Amino acid sequence: MKKIISAVLAGAMMCSAAVAFAGCGGSKNDSSSKTDDSKSATSDSASTNDEATADSAGANGTLHMATNAFFEPYEYYENQKIVGIDAEIAEAVCDKLGYSLVIDDMDFDSIITAVQSGKADFGMAGMTVTEERMQAIDFTDTYTNAIQVIIVKEGSDKVKSSEDFATSTIGVQMGTTGDIYVTDFEEKGAVVERFNKGADAVLALTQDKVDAVVIDNEPAKAFVAQNEGLTILEEPFENEEYAICVAKGSELTEKINGALKQLKEEGKIDEIIKKYIKA
Ligand code: GLN
Repeated sequence: MKKIISAVLAGAMMCSAAVAFAGCGGSKNDSSSKTDDSKSATSDSASTNDEATADSAGANGTLHMATNAFFEPYEYYENQKIVGIDAEIAEAVCDKLGYSLVIDDMDFDSIITAVQSGKADFGMAGMTVTEERMQAIDFTDTYTNAIQVIIVKEGSDKVKSSEDFATSTIGVQMGTTGDIYVTDFEEKGAVVERFNKGADAVLALTQDKVDAVVIDNEPAKAFVAQNEGLTILEEPFENEEYAICVAKGSELTEKINGALKQLKEEGKIDEIIKKYIKA
């Protein structure tokens, strides 16, 4: 999978620009944007946010994070609040930088546009660093890695590995690296069904509308745990790296990298990941 690159984790980090301000705001999830519709992904501060540009990121002491909150354990709803690894890392980054955090939920496919237009200050959604995305937005240093896996119905012999994609119907979440991966198989005969949510792809699998779903490993485990009769194939795909995306040229990249560096050194990133992913 050539389009997916492995970002370098260590060595190239910017020097820390992060200063922890006393009394910085806590985070809140924006319940007004708790829908899957990117149109409603603005918040109670929408009027000021509408004028936002890459240069005015965080102008109101608030950073808006664009995400798709159906991606457990990275971002998902618990008691109407968006929780998960990304939500907690974002909160820790904002605390370090002295901003309060508002999370705007939208389709995965809308996140990059929201960040480009300044409607959101950054995007964090288990988002893999890819060369193609780097044409549109900047990525911070990476904070964790992932693998694409194949989910199938238990006992089904239709898809035993990606070798069988050419004769199968594969479900993916639109615009994801899973989508990019299976798109390569379309010319070999694979039928690709693209869904707005990973959960919809998995639902289609349980209803025999697709033969397999390609998605990131940790959400895959969560889906398999929630849906009886599904299993993850052994075959591992390319390793991927997750990072936060920001508008091209935004000074937020350096600030966030500074905060991430501190959080890594303090063991906070590992602590958050271990809280949601049991070894
Ligand atoms: N890691 C995948 C990507 O970046 C999927 C992310 C997601 O569905 N939230 O495309």
